[in-house]
Amino acid sequence: MRAHYGYKDGSGEYFIVLDTDQCNACKECIIACPAGVFEIIVDDYDEEVAAVVEEHRNKLKYSCAPCKPTSGYNELPCVKACIPVAISHSW
Ligand code: SF4
Ligand code: SF4
Repeated sequence: MRAHYGYKDGSGEYFIVLDTDQCNACKECIIACPAGVFEIIVDDYDEEVAAVVEEHRNKLKYSCAPCKPTSGYNELPCVKACIPVAISHSW
């Protein structure tokens, strides 16, 4: 399943997409993310998977801003840390 976290506003779309079929709950994204965007939850299928914590879901543009201006898409700490390639960003 692809879980979308984020929002649209007048300036664009700000989503993090987590492919829960790829996620193995290794927690590397939690370690890598300086803003504490990720957590591990138990999903509807009783599987541990990564998710975006509630408090960040409506402010991803701001939470992720320190990572984005200085690095290209593939250099984002969370994307680099995720070996199964379960994380993608929409912007
Ligand atoms: S871009 Fe940076 S702040 Fe945003 S989720 Fe990834 S590591 Fe965390
Ligand atoms: S780094 Fe990737 S595989 Fe590991 S918990 Fe995070 S999203 Fe899941």
